[in-house]
Amino acid sequence: MNIHEYQAKQVLAKYKVPTPKGFPAFTVEEAEKAAKDLGGSVWVVKAQIHAGGRGKAGGVKVVKSLDDVKKEAKRLLGSTLVTHQTGPEGKVVNRLYIEEASNIAKEYYLGALVDRANSRVTFMASSEGGVEIEEVAHKHPEKIITVSVDPATGIQGCHARKLAYGIGLSGDKVKEFSKFVFALYNAFVGTDSSMFEINPLVETKEGNFIALDAKINFDDNALFRHPDLEALRDESEEEPLEARAGKSGLSYVKMDGTIGCMVNGAGLAMATMDIIKLYGAEPANFLDVGGGATKEKVTEAFKIILSDKNVKGILVNIFGGIMRCDIIAEGIIAAAKEVSIKVPLVVRLEGTNVEKGKEILAKSGLAITSADNLADAADKAVKAIKKKAA
Ligand code: ADP
Ligand code: MG
Repeated sequence: MNIHEYQAKQVLAKYKVPTPKGFPAFTVEEAEKAAKDLGGSVWVVKAQIHAGGRGKAGGVKVVKSLDDVKKEAKRLLGSTLVTHQTGPEGKVVNRLYIEEASNIAKEYYLGALVDRANSRVTFMASSEGGVEIEEVAHKHPEKIITVSVDPATGIQGCHARKLAYGIGLSGDKVKEFSKFVFALYNAFVGTDSSMFEINPLVETKEGNFIALDAKINFDDNALFRHPDLEALRDESEEEPLEARAGKSGLSYVKMDGTIGCMVNGAGLAMATMDIIKLYGAEPANFLDVGGGATKEKVTEAFKIILSDKNVKGILVNIFGGIMRCDIIAEGIIAAAKEVSIKVPLVVRLEGTNVEKGKEILAKSGLAITSADNLADAADKAVKAIKKKAA
């Protein structure tokens, strides 16, 4: 689960990670009040959307008068911000963050993630902050320093020092930076996060290290332990179909193609998407109905796939292990009764009760194309949508 920058900073502050002072604002009046309450004479007006790259897209403005705070707030609220992370449709700005301006001496990058390769929390730091880390990784991979922390020892001085020296710090700065890294590690573990990105982490002219931007991704599987974090969810930032699928226990990710997929098992779902591409079309979604899907779940899955207006055909690919093919067949028929499936439907069933499943489908009177294997299914689905389009 993702949260907004200002929420991430509030979470980090609880763990004593230094962040600039600021207040969220939902209206122009609140923005002005926030700036007045902060005091000083320079503020930063920051659009709050679940995407980075706001600075370059005009979503982060440094201003020097209350009039300009109001002007920028008015311009941003309700506008659609298109950054390289939002996709071409952009994201509507409903919230702002009004923050005190920092005296930046240098911008660094500091990220942390659960590293699946070594089962540890891995930090990544770079002296090249503020810019896209992907770009740094591509052009100057030697400028990214990584350190993995063994959960048995937790964070140690040596970890923080390796990062500090790696980004070119020395003397007292190493100590200051280390404090930051320790606090960040505690926040990461304490919130069961899967990813943190502090870009930039700045060194101020006063010699402090502060998180000037903060991106947090919590591990969804651990959210039940953190009702306070779960409460930070902003549903308006989530893809509505994905949120709906989540409520039914379906793993659904919307994509841009035209063939809707209903598959059991994440690996098979990925393979199905790959083979659709191989046969010349694009998948409209990833959808894993899970191992123990019921008829109701399958029906809901169909409704979700069909709610995507780009879907021109559906490919059902079920390997019946725990999941029985006859249940899937019944689900397809139940769904077809509730929502009229007007697009071509190709079904490939294999495994437990496959004969029974095929028989149920054959007797249903529905226009279903049956396929014998994965390649055959992809071929038939792609041909069906192309024929329809022709
Ligand atoms: P994004 O990553 O979405 O572009 P950031 O929060 O990283 O947004 O802001 C972009 C840039 O704006 C930063 O790299 C920094 O140079 C500047 N900036 C952001 N917040 C502040 C602040 N509080 N004070 C001074 N400059 C800031
Ligand atoms: Mg940033």
